[in-house]
Amino acid sequence: MSIEAGHRAERDLELRCENCSNHIHVSEGDVIPKCPSCGSERYYQPKSGPGDAR
Ligand SMILES: [Zn+2]
Repeated sequence: MSIEAGHRAERDLELRCENCSNHIHVSEGDVIPKCPSCGSERYYQPKSGPGDAR
């Protein structure tokens, strides 16, 4: 499941750029920026699973 720039993060997110694998952190309430490295607007979450719930 990919995540696009321009959306507001509903919670703190750790994201990786789909294009260049650059890692960014987005805080809850922040708008997800374009990748600062390559300008891509698509990200994925490197880890998602049971351990992520709180
Ligand atoms: Zn990138």
